[in-house]
Amino acid sequence: MATLFKSLAVFLEKVEATKKRLEIIAIAADFLKSLDAEDVEPAVSLILGRAFPKWSQKTLDVSWTTLSGVLQRITDVDWSVFHEAFAHTGDVGAAAKALFEKTNVQRQTLLQDETLTILEVRRLLDAIASATGAGSREKKERLITTLLSQASPVEVKYLVKIFIGEMRTGMHEGLMEQAVALAFNVPLAAVQKASMTLGDIAEVAAMAKVGGKAQLEQLGFQVFRPVKLMLAQSADDVAEVLAQHGGKTAFEYKYDGARVQIHKRGGDVRVFSRRLTDVTRSLPEVVKAVKANVNASEAILEGEVIAVDHGGRPIPFQHLMRRFKRIREVQDTAEEIPVALYLFDMLYLNGESLISLPYVQRRRILAENAGGIPLTKQVITDRKEEAEAFLKEAIDSGHEGLMAKKLDSPYTPGARGKRWFKIKPVLEPLDLVITAAEYGYGRRHEWLSDYYLAARDAVTGEFLNVGKTFKGLTDAEMAEMTKRLKALAVHEERNRVFVLPRIVVEVTYNEIQKSPKYKSGMALRFARISRIREDKTAEEADTIEKIKHIYEQQFAKKGKYKTE
Ligand code: AMP
Repeated sequence: MATLFKSLAVFLEKVEATKKRLEIIAIAADFLKSLDAEDVEPAVSLILGRAFPKWSQKTLDVSWTTLSGVLQRITDVDWSVFHEAFAHTGDVGAAAKALFEKTNVQRQTLLQDETLTILEVRRLLDAIASATGAGSREKKERLITTLLSQASPVEVKYLVKIFIGEMRTGMHEGLMEQAVALAFNVPLAAVQKASMTLGDIAEVAAMAKVGGKAQLEQLGFQVFRPVKLMLAQSADDVAEVLAQHGGKTAFEYKYDGARVQIHKRGGDVRVFSRRLTDVTRSLPEVVKAVKANVNASEAILEGEVIAVDHGGRPIPFQHLMRRFKRIREVQDTAEEIPVALYLFDMLYLNGESLISLPYVQRRRILAENAGGIPLTKQVITDRKEEAEAFLKEAIDSGHEGLMAKKLDSPYTPGARGKRWFKIKPVLEPLDLVITAAEYGYGRRHEWLSDYYLAARDAVTGEFLNVGKTFKGLTDAEMAEMTKRLKALAVHEERNRVFVLPRIVVEVTYNEIQKSPKYKSGMALRFARISRIREDKTAEEADTIEKIKHIYEQQFAKKGKYKTE
């Protein structure tokens, strides 16, 4: 029998109530075992706060105005109940639950005949995502009403969390991998490898249930299904990476642009952003270049797209991001802001995965297949002086710094490790999420101009504040930001507006300090917004762990200077 959504919500309550990793894994494995095969992918996606599988390009596109409007209409309780519960818990889902717990008895009895299954939730979420164009808001409202009016308070709590994209249960992908291995009796390594290749633990879970280890092992890449990106760790200088890479490594320019994964089959080319969303229509020149230059019948390539001026010199990244937003006006913008593509990796060629091959070999195959498309500028060296000169050359030519790639390293999708380092000479900016904002004074009194900045707690998924700033945005940007934040507002207290954690900004700062002021225990000094990261989701924001690491490094360096 199809599993009720209620069981999933009750399971999540249990996860939330314990902090013990092993216990979470055990109860998750039990829950997974209780599911029918067709329930597994939707259930795992929902547990991780995703309405759809990761490869899907669907988005719910439901604003807080729409969602809170529905919540108000189908409950007969004063909205102050929501505000009180939010002030108490800081959690939108919990506040919605409180609202539904107080609502009338008639509604509660209606719910006794429970029928809302996991599959029905997925079906309705699908319908909500499919409602686009004229009249879509009303249609979404009707569908959300249908969904929420079949839900009990505890179900409402998690449905709302799925709508806003912040689960805060403590269940994350790593634990889910372990639960899948335990539930379906498959080695953890096989689950992790499949999850890297496919980029989605939810689908891997479904496969493990049906075909076990054997099916996971024969999993390969599929063209037009984006693969998770390999990520880089930060390093302080070239000496450090030379040491880490055994004395010799490949340095490449680090271009300040947007990463793209390009898939080709025959005459079809699609381009995915680092969020793995399809940005093909925003980058017609990339499509054209690949069609004209790459002869392979099937290929998955990776590169960086940068904005350049008419003389070909790199210009700030912000200009490029406009391209991703203004899809309808591509033609115009393409003329306004030319882009240049530099390729740096190749993951797949004519039916064969290349990811287990060493970097140098992949780079050679890439060079053989790139036609006239330039590769990232590269130097392989064991000499510190040569590397330093190369870094200087990169900076002088307007680029961000260097990447260092271990010569014998495979491509590890989704992993951030020591095989790739990035070297940026300044204190690395952080990508943080805006969680609240305050109205300014004087000229700025109509704008939300003072922003609370938060990092992600990788374990709980909660966004914890680490600083506040009113610096960095232009007046026009502040006016636009005010509009966007108002649409995300969930609660107001005096002149402060709490918002859903959706907008990611890049923040520079002078120093990280320990601070009792914030729950995170960390605070940035002299924070300033350097750009709005339209290309990043809140899930990709920097973590508290990373900030703690920078704090410790900073401390180690200061200590060193003192003794010198
Ligand atoms: P970060 O975004 O700071 O974590 O740095 C890693 C990013 O640098 C990648 O995701 C790419 O978008 C970008 N990048 C620029 N040049 C290169 C390169 N030569 N190799 C790999 N990534 C690069």
